Amino acid sequence: MNIVLITGGAGFIGANFVRHWRAHHPDDSVIVLDALTYAGNRESLDGVEGIEFIEGDIRNFELVHKLVGERGVDRIVHFAAESHVDRSISGPDVFIDTNIIGTLSLLKAAKAHWLDKGSGRPHRFHHVSTDEVYGSLGPDDPGFSETTPYAPNSPYSASKAASDHLVRAYHHTYGLDVTTSNCSNNYGPYQYPEKLIPLFILNALHGKPLPIYGDGQQRRDWLHVADHCAGIDLVISEGRSGEVYNIGGGAELPNLAVIDKICAAIDTAFETEQGIADTYPEAAAANGKRTETLKTHVEDRLGHDRRYAIDERKIAGELGYRPARTFEEGLSETIQWYLGNEAWWRTVSAKT
Ligand code: NAD
Repeated sequence: MNIVLITGGAGFIGANFVRHWRAHHPDDSVIVLDALTYAGNRESLDGVEGIEFIEGDIRNFELVHKLVGERGVDRIVHFAAESHVDRSISGPDVFIDTNIIGTLSLLKAAKAHWLDKGSGRPHRFHHVSTDEVYGSLGPDDPGFSETTPYAPNSPYSASKAASDHLVRAYHHTYGLDVTTSNCSNNYGPYQYPEKLIPLFILNALHGKPLPIYGDGQQRRDWLHVADHCAGIDLVISEGRSGEVYNIGGGAELPNLAVIDKICAAIDTAFETEQGIADTYPEAAAANGKRTETLKTHVEDRLGHDRRYAIDERKIAGELGYRPARTFEEGLSETIQWYLGNEAWWRTVSAKT
């Protein structure tokens, strides 16, 4: 049995991961540490049994140090972060504090207990990071591999890059058992509706414009959060200490294509499912129009990266990782989840 501390477990990926870990490692003890910022929602863990939830800040070293020591934590899975690029452009400071200083605080606590005191048990610190640390690809460049040089372009990705370097340094300098995964764009249940897919689903349901940055030709690799969680589990359980693994969804698409798929799927839902038009009377699809009529081009994001893509050969070859769903399957599941979980998204949207 392991005692697992999951930071940011009330956020989008963290909450999915807590659910994944409880289902696949039922004998482990799970402690969730989350500051419940605007992006963290206790409701995202409703119905999850057998976890200890602690509302607290990863930057609070005393808290984190005490927690790791008193609970005998031997695995840390670190999701807590400020994660929205647009917010990092308008207000970078909290990104530096949380993503860099917060990660350092956790590493210091892990080192103090696992190495300096020596728990005598195996330990692992898994750091969840992003493919954005590698910068932007040209149209014909190969995907990001684990040896692609770092070239972060936004305050968000720069702060994540710095945290990745700290994790690496704690392994090389002190011998802390660490792994890092850098993943592509996630989507799926419990994603705060400021990110593209949930924002567009909810805007479409309410007949609001679908704001497309610039020409909409920015390309991203889309990864369903359940596939991401399975990939992180593999890295924690079987990945080599000190190594980095890139995790992708095998679905590189321009934003415009993603938006068109969302529009088409919403139209189909309105055509085939009874009662949706009554629930969402403002939707274009409830008024005899196609959802795509809501598409609106807006000014591009400052410094917007054009293309991310993942070279998955390392995690596929070493650990046998394969995403289980196609993008179309994952998107359809996700739209159904938002249609079926109105109480969740109304609650989290009302908080800001
Ligand atoms: P999120 O913004 O949905 O959730 C972040 C969580 O961290 C929230 O619950 C928030 O309350 C918590 N948090 C923030 N500051 C904290 C602090 N100081 N102390 C404790 N908790 C704090 O983020 P997400 O989309 O779930 O992303 C999780 C991780 O995955 C992040 O590290 C992010 O960089 C990385 N990532 C996300 C994506 C994506 O597509 N969402 C892609 C690549 C990497």
